[in-house]
Amino acid sequence: MNISTNAKLQDYSNFGLGGIASKIITLSTSDELINVLSSLEQNKEPYKILAGGTNVVFPDEGLTETLIHIKGGNIEINNTDLGLTADSGVLLMDVVRKTLGLGWVGMENLSGIPGTIGGAVYGNAGAYGTELKDLVDEVEIFDQGKRKWLSNTDCQFGYRTSVFKNHLRSDLKLIILKVKLKLAGRGDANELKNKSQEIIQIREQKYSPELKCPGSYFKNLLVSELTTEQLQSIPKDKIMFGKIPAGYLLEEVDAKSKSVGDIKVADFHANLLYNAGNGTAKQARELAEILKQLVLGKFGIRLEEEVRYF
Ligand SMILES: Cc1cc2nc3c(=O)[nH]c(=O)nc-3n(C[C@H](O)[C@H](O)[C@H](O)COP(=O)(O)OP(=O)(O)OC[C@H]3O[C@@H](n4cnc5c(N)ncnc54)[C@H](O)[C@@H]3O)c2cc1C
Repeated sequence: MNISTNAKLQDYSNFGLGGIASKIITLSTSDELINVLSSLEQNKEPYKILAGGTNVVFPDEGLTETLIHIKGGNIEINNTDLGLTADSGVLLMDVVRKTLGLGWVGMENLSGIPGTIGGAVYGNAGAYGTELKDLVDEVEIFDQGKRKWLSNTDCQFGYRTSVFKNHLRSDLKLIILKVKLKLAGRGDANELKNKSQEIIQIREQKYSPELKCPGSYFKNLLVSELTTEQLQSIPKDKIMFGKIPAGYLLEEVDAKSKSVGDIKVADFHANLLYNAGNGTAKQARELAEILKQLVLGKFGIRLEEEVRYF
């Protein structure tokens, strides 16, 4: 466990934004996490949870609450039932690699998604038709002083959402301690590794490792949630996995030419906002609002942020 005071938030997020955090506690195992959470809750000290920092926009004014930074932990394999249990701070990619090495089928499409397994469960992260909801067996949580296991159904997964994400919108906090996954079956480890490598190569063309960004800024749109009127102006061939890419709508409103200060829309991906060096959270919010208004004006569709504003 490590405690930093007056730390720069920009060093803890892939977007490179944010002011000063008065206290950051970095820890890894679920036992450490429980000890710290219990003590903060007993003392009624406010806190927020950070994991890989790949999907967050920290405020320019910094944070006065204690920031709990969950990083690392262990993976336990249960070979007989194609299951594994990981501490929430383990990198998703480490879990993916572990299953590929065992020749287990199911996680290969998630190759290259940055961040932790806990963060991925929180937002039901996904790619190429696979989401965490397809793999989660149970999730151990810390809920107001108590440890308990939630079933997949209890997690209330939806497109880029879960019970964890909804709860944090209110004062209640459900903290993910451990994640138990169950995979679909066994396959050929070499074939799975090759597929994973192909996906990583495609992703690296879109997201170069040095790019300061939080991934896709807005959620794609579920066709099932749009009205016939809204769908009228969308060409059928733009629909993928039952969704309309937010990138398509943004492209149509010329988002790629837009910027506010040092926050810019990438010229190769209209749903990617990046920090060119000295960007601020205020600029990111302003640019996001401009883009939302443009899409609303042209398509009558309201975009919703996938990133989390702290
Ligand atoms: C280059 C790039 C590419 C990306 N590609 C994809 C993609 O293809 N698909 C996709 O779905 N996402 C993608 N993302 C977004 C991001 O990687 C995922 O959302 C990721 O799962 C977030 O994990 P994290 O550990 O970084 O969470 P953080 O960003 O640290 O946190 C995100 C939210 O989760 C909460 N949280 C984190 N851990 C816990 C916990 N243990 N308990 C309770 N709450 C918790 C935090 O409070 C915060 O609100 C991408 C991001 C980047 C930068």
